[in-house]
Amino acid sequence: MVASEEEAAVFISLEELELHRVRVSKTYDSGALDYRGAEFRQLGTLKVDAVAELVGSDIHFEGHIRARLEANCDRCLAPVELPVEHDFDLLYRPVETIAREEEIKVPKDELEVGFYSGNGIPLADLVTEQVILSVPMKVVCRADCLGFCPVCRANRNLAACNCPEPRTDSPFAQLEEG
Ligand SMILES: [Zn+2]
Ligand SMILES: [Zn+2]
Repeated sequence: MVASEEEAAVFISLEELELHRVRVSKTYDSGALDYRGAEFRQLGTLKVDAVAELVGSDIHFEGHIRARLEANCDRCLAPVELPVEHDFDLLYRPVETIAREEEIKVPKDELEVGFYSGNGIPLADLVTEQVILSVPMKVVCRADCLGFCPVCRANRNLAACNCPEPRTDSPFAQLEEG
């Protein structure tokens, strides 16, 4: 039973949520999820654990994603491993409610709000979106990565070149903030 569940797409349906909370635990192998051209790769198996419940006509989704991704350093292109330990707490509203703005009152800081259409949410869609959100805007192999020389294109982490150094501000301050 477990083996076949691994392969099947998980769909969180309203039909089931009307009966009870739905608890899901699922793994996705590398390549199983379509990250839509994102500039990272999934290494190994991703794991998601989540609980979904119906709140009125909204679906409240809470859980955790554990994964390992690999992206390239923005400065020197070296592969960088990005461990993901991502908690999510999401509220999905029926897409029809977009038109009725006066009803959309959500404590903005606490919950992320999305919309669903039809009779539920495919788990893979939620996971894909959350993984993309978890990836930092800037990826560097290390805070003091020297990157490529803008003049001769040598990788300055490997060897210093003798090109005249263009004046730059220290990149360290903004990197620490992540
Ligand atoms: Zn680098
Ligand atoms: Zn150079």
